[in-house]
Amino acid sequence: MQSKMKESDPILEVENLFASTDNLPILKGVSLSVYPGEIHAIMGRNGCGKSTLSKIIAGHPSYNITSGDIKFSGENINSLEPEERSQSGIFLGFQYPIEIPGVSNLEFLRVSTNARRKFLKKEELDTFDFEELVKEKLELVKMDHAFLSRSVNQGFSGGEKKRNEILQMALLEPKIAILDETDSGLDIDALRIVASGIKKISNAQTGIILITHYQRLLDEIEPNYVHVMADGQIIKTGGSDLALELEKKGYEWTDNFVKET
Ligand code: ADP
Ligand code: MG
Repeated sequence: MQSKMKESDPILEVENLFASTDNLPILKGVSLSVYPGEIHAIMGRNGCGKSTLSKIIAGHPSYNITSGDIKFSGENINSLEPEERSQSGIFLGFQYPIEIPGVSNLEFLRVSTNARRKFLKKEELDTFDFEELVKEKLELVKMDHAFLSRSVNQGFSGGEKKRNEILQMALLEPKIAILDETDSGLDIDALRIVASGIKKISNAQTGIILITHYQRLLDEIEPNYVHVMADGQIIKTGGSDLALELEKKGYEWTDNFVKET
């Protein structure tokens, strides 16, 4: 399915990726290509390697690539620093967003936004101009201005943390956004807000990878492709109907699948 002729070049190509942490193999040959405008969903049991895959794409230092390649805009990024990846347009919304006590959310968002703007050769924004920009984006995720003056994620509820991730994504305007269980722990209203935020940000130039267990997010944002992971591999790829089938049949249904080549 992924080998079908496409009009443009892929944004992200993961090619037969093997990766480990502390010599423990976690990814065992993952291949995935994301083209501009595509939305991919990755599903799979807890512990199958979904977060590891997303963290490796973002350059997390805890994991080693033992073989295979990650290419972004055609360039191999295997050894690029996480900051460089972020600046060049790779965004990861964490499953568990970290709290940074003592660092104001506004300043944190401004510094990361300016790093991205610098890469894009756009002018950097001072606090005053940044406040104007952020005001607009707060609307997208229906967040109160008061969240900007608090420490990053500190004391935020689960849903507020996830909205803050979407706010950051809206400011960074990434080329590829990987959202790791952004929907988990959200009530129905928060889920709709997050989903509509993601939809407003998605466009013909951006690729999105949604890691999720739940059909309800995929009801709001229909993916072009659904991938099922098991034990560090993508064992099946299909269209949005695959997620519906999974919801009906559960992951047990996939236990006898062998990796498609
Ligand atoms: P998922 O996101 O699909 O639930 P993860 O990618 O978080 O799965 O984890 C995949 C497997 O790798 C799990 O068995 C997990 O315990 C293990 N793992 C992930 N990160 C580490 C780490 N830093 N140290 C040791 N084991 C890890
Ligand atoms: Mg995970």
